[in-house]
Amino acid sequence: MGTLYDFTCAACGYTAASGGMDRGIDTVYVTVHCLNCRELMDVLAGRLSHDLPPPPPSLGAPATSPPPRPTVPPKEKLAEVKWRCRTGRFHRLEPWQPPGPCPKCGEVIERGEPVGIWD
Ligand SMILES: [Zn+2]
Ligand SMILES: [Zn+2]
Repeated sequence: MGTLYDFTCAACGYTAASGGMDRGIDTVYVTVHCLNCRELMDVLAGRLSHDLPPPPPSLGAPATSPPPRPTVPPKEKLAEVKWRCRTGRFHRLEPWQPPGPCPKCGEVIERGEPVGIWD
């Protein structure tokens, strides 16, 4: 779940709806500026997996073995995904966060009103 915000450039009127740095249940999105398209867009940045803890070490280990490492609680693992522009595999993407430069004219865009919810 995330909130979409309306980004509008006051100087040239460019608009983009974006969630900013946000995440779904098992996905993480990041807002990027595609230097080739001159657009702001949300791209998939990673997938979360909820791993079960590893099985406990087998009993009966030799007494000389080092003490087992503390048990790590189950934790989220983030598998990072290479950012990719929707329209071009090899487009150059840069992270973008408000306030940030308009991809069209370079003026600063502030975060606008929430315009919706995605999940
Ligand atoms: Zn602009
Ligand atoms: Zn692009």
